[in-house]
Amino acid sequence: MNVRAATRVFDTLVIGGGIAGLQTALDLADLGLSVAIVEKDASIGGKMIGLSKVFPTLDCASCITTPKMAAAAHHENIRIFTLAEVSSVVRRGEDFTARVTLKPRFVDEDRCIGCRLCEYACDADVADDFEGGLSSHRAIYVPFTNAIPQIAVLDPEECNLCGKCVKVCPTDAVVLDQKPREIEIEVRSVVVATGFETTPMGARSEYHGNEIANVISPLTMERLLAPHGPYGRVLRPADGKVPDSVAFVQCAGSRDRSLGVPYCSRVCCMYAIKQAMLLSGSLPFADITIYTMDIRAFGKGYETFYHNASAMGIEFVKGKVARIDEVDDRNVEVRVEHIDERGQVEERRHDLVVLSLGMLPAADLRDRMPIGVSADGFVTVPKPTIEPCRTTEEGVFVSGTAAGPKDIVDAIAEAGAAAMAVSVYLKKKEPEGCAACAVTAGSDTP
Ligand SMILES: Cc1cc2nc3c(=O)[nH]c(=O)nc-3n(C[C@H](O)[C@H](O)[C@H](O)COP(=O)(O)OP(=O)(O)OC[C@H]3O[C@@H](n4cnc5c(N)ncnc54)[C@H](O)[C@@H]3O)c2cc1C
Ligand code: SF4
Ligand code: SF4
Repeated sequence: MNVRAATRVFDTLVIGGGIAGLQTALDLADLGLSVAIVEKDASIGGKMIGLSKVFPTLDCASCITTPKMAAAAHHENIRIFTLAEVSSVVRRGEDFTARVTLKPRFVDEDRCIGCRLCEYACDADVADDFEGGLSSHRAIYVPFTNAIPQIAVLDPEECNLCGKCVKVCPTDAVVLDQKPREIEIEVRSVVVATGFETTPMGARSEYHGNEIANVISPLTMERLLAPHGPYGRVLRPADGKVPDSVAFVQCAGSRDRSLGVPYCSRVCCMYAIKQAMLLSGSLPFADITIYTMDIRAFGKGYETFYHNASAMGIEFVKGKVARIDEVDDRNVEVRVEHIDERGQVEERRHDLVVLSLGMLPAADLRDRMPIGVSADGFVTVPKPTIEPCRTTEEGVFVSGTAAGPKDIVDAIAEAGAAAMAVSVYLKKKEPEGCAACAVTAGSDTP
């Protein structure tokens, strides 16, 4: 193992603590290699920790993600830095030096015990992004129920400096004047696992995604469907009505050159079908419609999943949605051009509409580290068929959706492949008598 706490030396730096980064880190750590995870948010877990259930198995998303988050946090070979961003990665001979900015949490991580007394004392209300803005938290808060670390974070934009949190904190953990810090990490390899963002709600102006309250994002629908979501059940945001009719508009941000997203985002058809199935369970009398040009259900068992949804009564309308408008009683009108009925145009009304947004790369690290990026913005993988995790730079690897849109099944498979590629790379670099595996080549002594 290659860890020196004072100088922060690790075998691998994993940038991004979503499901792909966590899986790569866990696999490497289980091989005895030391890993630093740098995560920009206040908790690890990425998008998956916010999902309700996951296709194709309909397993509870947090039941899969939370144990992996906890395993990474408790692994003796893994060190996690949250609220941390890499400002540069520079090659030094065979190795790399990463400069990492630790953003202020305004809470001392070593002192905070996650008791939330600060949160209860604080009066400043802030829209909760984790819940799609449908509920609120205080200016100082623990990010969400199963966040890791379970440590409070303060939002300096919303704090009015009243000092109530400072007074109630039993461990004197609140530090209102905390400043950003820079640390240096020396590593022998790097894995980019920065994941994705959804395409913007307002990308297609004719859909009025940011203007109509009952037109929501798919991540917001995930929270409405989650057991501990903002309302505890599915209600529409504008007026709290239980929706009788819900529609999904496919390819709302993908397969469109004019939006700069010519590719298929690969997961939107499947997550829409999943959400439709979950909705028909929680709202058995609601009409559920999916407007789609074609359904792309490419994975193992996915076609059956699609047919099951059809059999459950979910309506699939083959058409292209031209406009979405708000009409009376905060309902939503969808204008659809049918594909299979000689271009017939129809206007249909729904209580709630979900835009099935596509995937964009979450980070462009080109100006911060040696890495190639393709025209679509995702990390370049020069030989995807034979080396799916290698980038243009020796010693720098990629894992999960940072390399392109993919589902969890593929992200986890690729994360394992990235860990294997890193370990082979490090093993080849080792002089005889590899320290990482503690086995002397040619010797019988382990
Ligand atoms: C609405 C919706 C529903 C979905 N449902 C399913 C489903 O049911 N089944 C399924 O298989 N797939 C589903 N998916 C796809 C699934 O979310 C992804 O496959 C998976 O989350 C990809 O994991 P990842 O680790 O690659 O990326 P992410 O989850 O995006 O994780 C990346 C992490 O990197 C961090 N990060 C980003 N930039 C930086 C930076 N510069 N420095 C440090 N950290 C950084 C981020 O904060 C994040 O924690 C769904 C997607 C959406 C949008
Ligand atoms: S900052 Fe203090 S009051 Fe807030 S959760 Fe941490 S220990 Fe509790
Ligand atoms: S100082 Fe800021 S975070 Fe603390 S209780 Fe007052 S408003 Fe809330």
